Amino acid sequence: MIQARTTSSDETAALAAAVAELAGAGDLIVLSGDLGAGKTAFAKGFGAALGVSEPITSPTFTLVREYVGRMKLYHLDVYRLEQIEEALDLGLAELLDDDAVTLIEWGDAILPALPPDYLEVRLELGESDDDRVIEVSLIGRAWAARSVVVGRALQRWSSC
Ligand code: ADP
Ligand code: MG
Repeated sequence: MIQARTTSSDETAALAAAVAELAGAGDLIVLSGDLGAGKTAFAKGFGAALGVSEPITSPTFTLVREYVGRMKLYHLDVYRLEQIEEALDLGLAELLDDDAVTLIEWGDAILPALPPDYLEVRLELGESDDDRVIEVSLIGRAWAARSVVVGRALQRWSSC
């Protein structure tokens, strides 16, 4: 697990951009943490770094929003029970696409439905209003194999 700290939403966006640089099609990134922790802020920075020009908004009333940058980006939020049910009914495997990178806010709510490999980004409130502690965990063998690359990408914000 890599622990990082940011002190503004711009800094979280920059960290997300660093993750976007190393992300490839087929990758899944699970965003976890309380309301207001910065999951959508991360998604915005991630999308901007992929070259998505339209604004990335919280997918509150749709299960999936699709964006196009240097590759396709799927953005989901499974905060509401209906969204959890829809995601489970649909089957995440159906949704995950070799052509797209997928971000799932509250993805930890549907862990049993997730494939064995994903990057978990857990955002937590820090001491001051704009401080966040961001824990990045590499889940599964395929991500474990990328630990050096991820570690280097996040070194700037790393606190341990
Ligand atoms: P979530 O999607 O986790 O519910 P949002 O990204 O919608 O959270 O909201 C996070 C809020 O916190 C935004 O208003 C953002 O500007 C603010 N914020 C302040 N500091 C930070 C930070 N370091 N990282 C991310 N967001 C921050
Ligand atoms: Mg959100």
